[in-house]
Amino acid sequence: MKKKKKEKKEKPMRDRVEVCPICFSIVKRSPQIFDVNSTFHCTNSDCGWSGSFAVEVDINEYKQFVKDRQNKNESDKNSRDEP
Ligand SMILES: [Zn+2]
Repeated sequence: MKKKKKEKKEKPMRDRVEVCPICFSIVKRSPQIFDVNSTFHCTNSDCGWSGSFAVEVDINEYKQFVKDRQNKNESDKNSRDEP
């Protein structure tokens, strides 16, 4: 009797990213051996934040956020350039 093949059903995981609560850059997670909590380090060297929590956001939302922020910066520049 043949065993039924178990098909691995992978749930479509929504991609999430963890970002710095200060500057909203992507953070790196460094798990600690003797601590249940992970430590997060901001990848933005200007910020240098590290802590035991980070803001988890949907990657699409994050991309949109970055886009919006860039647009805002550009519009700020444009308004400054105006006489
Ligand atoms: Zn940061």
